Formats: sequence, C-alpha cells, structure tokens
Amino acid sequence: MPSLNKNMNVSHTKFRPKQTLGQNFLLDENICRKITQAIAPGADDTIVEIGPGFGALTGDLLDSGARVIAVEIDRRLTAKLRQEFAGNDNFKLIENDFLKVDLQELQRGKQKLRIVGNIPYHITSPVMFKIFAVCHLVSDLTLMIQKEVAERIVAVPRTKAYGILSVFSQLYSEPKILFQVSRNVFKPRPDVESAVVKWDLTAARKFKITDEQLLRDIIKRSFNQRRKMLRKSLQQLPDFKEKIPALNFGLERRPEELTIDEFVDLSNQLASA
Ligand code: SAM
Repeated sequence: MPSLNKNMNVSHTKFRPKQTLGQNFLLDENICRKITQAIAPGADDTIVEIGPGFGALTGDLLDSGARVIAVEIDRRLTAKLRQEFAGNDNFKLIENDFLKVDLQELQRGKQKLRIVGNIPYHITSPVMFKIFAVCHLVSDLTLMIQKEVAERIVAVPRTKAYGILSVFSQLYSEPKILFQVSRNVFKPRPDVESAVVKWDLTAARKFKITDEQLLRDIIKRSFNQRRKMLRKSLQQLPDFKEKIPALNFGLERRPEELTIDEFVDLSNQLASA
C-alpha cells in the first residue's frame, strides 16, 4: 500500500484531471522521495520543475533549500500551488507551457539549470529536443517517462529500440534509467508502465563536430526513413550526390547500424567534402 502524498490528500478529491494535459498524478510519497534523492538537490541549485501538478515533488525539492522554478500550464493547479508554496522565497511559479519558456531567462549568473518533472508522456520528445538545443544551459534532466521510451533512450545500435531518441540522448548526455515505476502509484492510473530517466549533460562524451546543424539534420533524415539505406534517405541533403565520391563511408547501411561516432564521422566528412 503506497503512502499517500500529503498534497494529494487535500487537493485531489474534486479535481477532474485533463487527459489532454497528461494529468496522472503521483500518489506515492516514497516514489516522490526516491526521485528527489536521485536528483540530490543542493541549496545552490536552480531546479526547473516541469508540470508540478499538486506539488507532489515540489515540496521535497524545496526542503533541500534549492531554488525551484515550477512551470505549470493548468490554471486550476497554479492557484493551488500558489496557496501551498507562495510563502517560500525559493519558490517561483510560471504559469505557461514549458515548451514556450525561455530557459536562458531562468538562469542565475552562469550556473547551469537542473530540470526535473513527472511530465505528460506526449511531450517527452519535444522536452528532450528543447533541452538539447540549449545543452550549454543545463547540467541534468530527470524525467518520469513511459518505460518503453526510456528503453529507447539508452538503446545501443543494431537493436529495435535504437533510434533518434537514443542518438540525440547519447550525443548530448550520458542517459541512465534510474528505476521503474508501477502504474499503480498514479491517479488516474495510466495505461503504460513508467521509468525515471536521468540525462547527465555534464558527463556527455566530447565529440568534435564540424557542423552541428548538419549532424542533427543527418540523424533526423536518416531515422525518418529508417528502413532505407543512407544513400537514399540523405539524398535531399544539399549537394549530397556531388559529395558522395569524396566520402569514405558505407552509405549502404541503415541508420540503426551506426554508432554515435559514425554519425559524427559522416557529418564531418560531408561538412568538409
Ligand atoms: N508532477 C505532478 C505529479 O507528479 O503528481 C503532476 C504530473 S502530471 C503527469 C503532468 C503535469 O504537467 C500536470 O500537472 C499538467 O497540468 C502539467 N502539464 C501538462 N502539459 C504541460 C506543459 N506543456 N507545460 C507545463 N506543464 C504541463
């Protein structure tokens, strides 16, 4: 029997969750604590929480003394969050869509942001791509996501799970599945199992990339047609056909066969061809 999160006791009874906002609230205090322990917030940290809901994680994060910037889109919830946490000077609430928030504006000095959230699963990829686009601003990202997607993030080449999420994640960070979470600890209960994933951007491997935009483009185009050989899926890249003779690269392969180093190599060869 999970120990009920204190914010859920008072707030949840009359609330009608919106499926379109992926509102599956965490009920179990132990899971909330486990997530906070995995993040290990320090008093100097600035933590951006995506979708705090009723504040299941927010209270534990604030207890660490960290500055917490909570970004919640649902006005019914921001009203409750304000009541609950407004007295805490370390708490800041942004009533907005996280995907529209300018992360640079949240930074204090040069210190990097730490991002966390039990997020709606349908925004997992846009959240990841938003963070990778400003990777220099973020030290780590910890999210509760669908278990099957978590497995894709840490997947290795030549497996079914290996794809665009694996390549981008492993290019910009060291991703790890921290633990799995049963669907029974949420209300309403989701249809899928979950896992908590941490992307450590400070531990990312250092790649020498000549043209980052080109590399991103290659990864996206090749996985958009993952059954096709690279020679075919990349043919719309500017001047691709003309550059082929200058490449020392097996273009008969499919993207799922390529390691991250090989994507970088292909992109660097194309950039200088
Ligand atoms: N963190 C809370 C918890 O664990 O109980 C709530 C989790 S619930 C899965 C997702 C939360 O994200 C909801 O509160 C929802 O309103 C909010 N949300 C949905 N889309 C959002 C967006 N684009 N930006 C910010 N918050 C969003």
